[in-house]
Amino acid sequence: MTLTRRQTLSGLGLGLGLGIATGIPVLAQKMSVRIVIIGGGFGGASSAQYLKHLLPNADITLVESNANYVACPFSNLVIGGDRDIADQTFGYAALKALGVNIIHAYAKDVDPIARTVQLAGDAALRYDKLILSPGIDMRWNALEGYDEAAAEIMPHAWKAGAQTLLLRKQLEKMENGGLVVMSAPPAPFRCPPGPYERASLIAHYLKTHKPKSKLIILDAKDSFSKMPLFKEAWAELYPEHLEWRAGSFDGRVTRVDTASRTLVTDFDELKPAVANVIPPQKAGEIARRAGVADDTGWCPIHPLNFESRLHKHIHVIGDATVASPMPKSAFSANLQAKIAAISIAQELNGTEITPTTLVNTCYSYTAPDEAVSIVGVYHNSNDELTSVKGAGGLSPLNAEKSIRQTEAQQAKDWFATITAEAFG
Ligand code: FAD
Repeated sequence: MTLTRRQTLSGLGLGLGLGIATGIPVLAQKMSVRIVIIGGGFGGASSAQYLKHLLPNADITLVESNANYVACPFSNLVIGGDRDIADQTFGYAALKALGVNIIHAYAKDVDPIARTVQLAGDAALRYDKLILSPGIDMRWNALEGYDEAAAEIMPHAWKAGAQTLLLRKQLEKMENGGLVVMSAPPAPFRCPPGPYERASLIAHYLKTHKPKSKLIILDAKDSFSKMPLFKEAWAELYPEHLEWRAGSFDGRVTRVDTASRTLVTDFDELKPAVANVIPPQKAGEIARRAGVADDTGWCPIHPLNFESRLHKHIHVIGDATVASPMPKSAFSANLQAKIAAISIAQELNGTEITPTTLVNTCYSYTAPDEAVSIVGVYHNSNDELTSVKGAGGLSPLNAEKSIRQTEAQQAKDWFATITAEAFG
């Protein structure tokens, strides 16, 4: 998709007030400025597209280690056997055609003082502004026994691609009657409702293909996103095939042992045929190298423009940020990309950046043709992100099937829109 200016502004209208949308930086459009973006996922690719439109003369370089991007949203449908991974896979040709320089390399270091990015192979890039959208990395061994090698036996499938296919293959190979166990992580983590959408779609696969099998979720937490809606759907659709154990009811996994395929809790040991271990997470490693991650492993930002609190001229967007109450979602990453892009353009233009209203919507499938959603609305004034009281909310409980089916269709429309805004 190539954006016209009108489309850019209507896209911004998704969450940004007209105050910002009308402040088009005329001067900045004529400037030549070097902007480097690390990470070509939902945040990075969206910011490249919006920056190129707002600053046509800017020298914009996107550094992404992979040739193609495999999207996590909808990847739970692949795991459930209801979607092809090819429908999740996107390239960078459209961004290249827009004039964005695409470098497929791993960014191994950032010098925030010299304003340089070091690439694997030792090439270096200079920048005036840097946007970091590296997503997440796993905290290997934060859960005892769970390291990179363990993930090849007990896949996390929390970065889409080979891990998604591995988990799907294990489910397909499993005998009817086999036990599946998912370990759900403590907050904060990528996509708060994601484990429970996945559980729903795995349970649907078991019910329809392996009816003697069952899924147990061992959860580090006592509550989770959209909990009433998921629990209602599970009671109706999967009473025999899905069990959820809360953290305070011995749900928290304390250790895994891949040799014996065991997940250990305080009082129990489970030996499933298939284990999906979603481990604790942190911002992508390059954030630490750049000095923009704090002791929590995540990146504090100024919510007004998503500039790092730790280093000027570096904007951090997407999952890597501390942006609570906004969830770590593709929707948030895309909107944060727009805010970072327009605030860079406004700063170059000498225009004051004003607070605005942000929004997030997350759809979750409870079955392949049924979905529920949550909407959050936020303000970014007074250097903090706050939820707008009374705005947003959840899908209704006890709804007609047709409402769930309509939301499943809306989810598909959302996916088509957001991937077009990122990858064209
Ligand atoms: P990413 O999209 O992960 O992009 C990061 C990119 O940076 C990657 O391509 C990576 O290769 C690259 N990278 C990292 N480090 C480097 C480096 N040093 N050098 C070069 N490249 C680098 N969100 C929703 O809104 N709706 C949903 O329905 C939804 N469903 C989900 C379901 C699942 C199962 C999961 C796991 C997530 C889901 N999400 C959903 C969350 C969504 O995927 C993330 O929030 C989103 O991808 C975050 O975007 P990002 O740009 O921060 O990171």
